[in-house]
Amino acid sequence: MPRRLRLANRIGLPIAALIFAAVGVGVLLGAQRFIADANQVAHTNEVIASVDAVEARLRDAEAAQRGYLLTDDVDYLAIYRLSREQTRPLLDRLAHLVGDNPQQLQRVGALSALRDRRIAQIETNLGLYRQGGLPAAQAGIDREVLEVSSAIRGQAQQLVERERELLVARGVSSRRSADILRALALLGIPLGIAVVGAVYWMLVREIRRRGKAERASTQANLRLRESVEQLERHTADLAELNRYGSLLQNCMKPEEAVALTSQLLSRLLPGTGGTLYRIRASQDYAEELAHWGEHAAASTALLPLEQCWALRRGQPHLLRAHGETLRCAHIHPPAIDVELNTACLPLAAQGHQLGFLYLSSASPAMLGRMELVQAVTEKLSMALHNLALQERLRIQSIRDPLTGLFNRRYLEESLGRELARCERRGLPLALLMLDLDHFKAFNDLHGHPGGDALLAGFGRLLSSLVRGEDIACRYGGEEFTLILPEATSEQAGRRAAEIGAAVRALRVEYLGRELPAITVSIGVAAFEGDGDSAGMLLQRADRALYRAKRSGRDRYETEIAALPVA
Ligand code: GH3
Ligand code: MG
Ligand code: MG
Repeated sequence: MPRRLRLANRIGLPIAALIFAAVGVGVLLGAQRFIADANQVAHTNEVIASVDAVEARLRDAEAAQRGYLLTDDVDYLAIYRLSREQTRPLLDRLAHLVGDNPQQLQRVGALSALRDRRIAQIETNLGLYRQGGLPAAQAGIDREVLEVSSAIRGQAQQLVERERELLVARGVSSRRSADILRALALLGIPLGIAVVGAVYWMLVREIRRRGKAERASTQANLRLRESVEQLERHTADLAELNRYGSLLQNCMKPEEAVALTSQLLSRLLPGTGGTLYRIRASQDYAEELAHWGEHAAASTALLPLEQCWALRRGQPHLLRAHGETLRCAHIHPPAIDVELNTACLPLAAQGHQLGFLYLSSASPAMLGRMELVQAVTEKLSMALHNLALQERLRIQSIRDPLTGLFNRRYLEESLGRELARCERRGLPLALLMLDLDHFKAFNDLHGHPGGDALLAGFGRLLSSLVRGEDIACRYGGEEFTLILPEATSEQAGRRAAEIGAAVRALRVEYLGRELPAITVSIGVAAFEGDGDSAGMLLQRADRALYRAKRSGRDRYETEIAALPVA
C-alpha cells in the first residue's frame, strides 16, 4: 500500500470519525441544553406562579379580614384563616424552588418576613376589632400597614422580574448554543463528508492503480510464459537437432540423410511443404531429391541453377506474404489468392554448392524458425559432403585409377561374396582371367605411357562389355579378372570369345596416332559346387590362362575341376 494511502487510512478516517463524533456530541449537548432550558422556563413559570399564589393568598386573607370587619360574618374569618395558612406552604415551596439561587432565596426570605409582619398586623387589627368594634379596628389601620403591603408587592415584583431576567439570559445562551450547534453541523458535516470523500477518492485511485498494476503483471506473466515456452521450444529444438546430428553421422548413404531430414523438417514445421534439391554433377541443373508435406506453391522438379536466388547469392532467400522480395523463377504461386511464404536455403559445404532446400507455407510461422532450419541445412550439407567424400574414397579404394575397373582387393572381397550368394541359391558362377599378350614388348615399343594408354582403353572396353551383375577387375599389371555370377562355363566361354574378338578390334589412340592392335589370352574356370573355393577357382582360371598362353595366345581355355561334382 503506498504511503499516501496508508496516511489517508490512518489519519483521514479517524479525523472523519472524530468530526462526526464531535457533531454527534454537539447535537447531544445541544439537545440536553434545550431540555434544560425548557425545564428552566417551566421552573421560572412555576416560581412566578408561586409568587403570584403567595400574593393572591395574602390578598384573599386581607379581603376576608375586611369582610369580617364589615359584616362580622365568621365565615370571612374562616376564609381569612384558610388563606393565611395556605401562604406558609406556598412560601416554603417557593424557597425550595429558588433554593439554587441565593439572591432569590434571600428575597423569598424577605417576602416571608413581610408576610409574617402583614399577618401580625391583621391579627392586631382583629384584636382591636374584638375589643372596640369596627371603629377601633379602622383606627388601627395606619401607615405601616400600607408600607408592608407595598413592600410585599415590591418584593414579589423583584422576585418575578429576576426570574424573567434569568429567562431572558437563558434564552440568549440557548440561542448561542443553537448557533454553535448549527455552525458545527454546517461546518462539521461537509468537512466530515469532504474527509471521507478524500479517503474514498484515494481508495478508488489505489484500486485503479492496483488494477493497472495487476494488468501489467498479467501481461508480464504472459510475456514470461511466452519466453519460457520459447526457451522450452528452443531446448526441444536443440535436442532434436542433436539427435538429428548423431543420426546423420551414422547415415551410410545420402538417401538416408535426405529421408532423415525430410522426417525432421515435417515434424518441426507442420503445415509446411518442403523439397530438397541436389545439384547435378554436371553443375548445370538442380534436381529434386525428396519432398514432403503440402506446398503452398509448387516448385519445378528440375531447374537451371540461376532460377534460384539462394543458389545465386549463396544465402537463404526468404519471401514473406506481401513482402517486397523477388520470387525465384522455379516457384509457381497458386492461382487462388493465398498468403505465400517461401524460403530457399542453399546447401553448401567447404565452398561447394550441393543443392538447396525449398520450403513453402501459407503461415508465416515457418519463417520464424529459419535459424533452426538453417542449422539443419548446415548439418545436412556437411553430412552430404562427408558422404560424397566417403563415397569417393570408397571408390578410390576399390577402383583402379588407370582403367576405372575394380582393383584386386575388391575382387577378393566380391568373389567370396558372390560365390556364397550363388552357392546359397544353387546358381552357377564363372571366372575369367585375362592377360594381354606380349605386353612387355608393347611397352618396349611404345613406352610405358603408351602401354598405360592401351591399358586404359582396354579397361573401357571391358567395362562396356560387362553386364550389371558382372564384376571386372584389374588383377595387377596387364592381368584382369571378370566374375560372371550365374554363368555356366559354357556361357563364360562364349563371353571369353566375344571379349577376345573385341580386343582384337580395339583401337587406341595415343599422342595423335593409333597404337597397334593387341590380343588377349583368357583362362576360364567355373564354380563346381560344394567344396570349391575362391582360391581354387582363381587357381583353375590361372591354369587355364597358362594353357591358353602355351597353346599360342589370343584364345581362351577352360579348366574343369578335378573335384567330383555334387
Ligand atoms: P605374355 O603375357 O604374352 O607372356 O607376355 P608379356 O610380355 O605380357 O609378359 P609378362 O606378363 O611377363 O609381362 C608383363 C608386362 O606388362 C611387364 C610390364 O612391363 C608390363 N606392365 C605391367 N604393369 C604395367 C603398367 O601398369 N603399365 C604398363 N605400361 N605396363 C605394365
Ligand atoms: Mg602377365
Ligand atoms: Mg602378358
